[in-house]
Amino acid sequence: MSIDAILEKAVAGERLTMDDAVRLYEVDENDEVQLNKLGEAADTMMKKWHPEPITTFVIGRNVNYTNFCDTYCRFCAFYRPPGHEEGYVLSDEEIFKKIQETVDVGGTEILMQGGTNPNLEFSYYTDLLRNIKQRFPDITMHSFSPAEIYKMMEVSGLALKKCYKN
Ligand code: SF4
Repeated sequence: MSIDAILEKAVAGERLTMDDAVRLYEVDENDEVQLNKLGEAADTMMKKWHPEPITTFVIGRNVNYTNFCDTYCRFCAFYRPPGHEEGYVLSDEEIFKKIQETVDVGGTEILMQGGTNPNLEFSYYTDLLRNIKQRFPDITMHSFSPAEIYKMMEVSGLALKKCYKN
């Protein structure tokens, strides 16, 4: 299906298929014509849902819970290799403190973002998230990059779907 046809479908409120989404995702970043069409369709939908027009924001905070990482991206100045003396894993109490500070200024969202730490067991993540939700039931957890999820798969030996379920 052409990009035009997919965007017409979207603007008409029809549900897009996985193939449609992949087709849109693959629009070349240098193709200004197609990119502008995508932007126009997105703007049309935004105005449809919010004719006021009002744009809203949430207050969120990034919590970099560990900088140990075994992915070694060349551009990254944040990570430290496993065992490095400058590496850290924040304690749960430190993480709770950061979340409380966020809540105290009206924050509603936490982004947990760290390195791919091979020494953290899968239960580290599930226990931590469970404890956070117990203490902060109203906070939205918007957390972990695909690389971190992949590391969780590696350390747990679980399939991807099982990682998400837990
Ligand atoms: S995975 Fe993240 S933390 Fe690790 S090296 Fe790459 S950018 Fe840095």
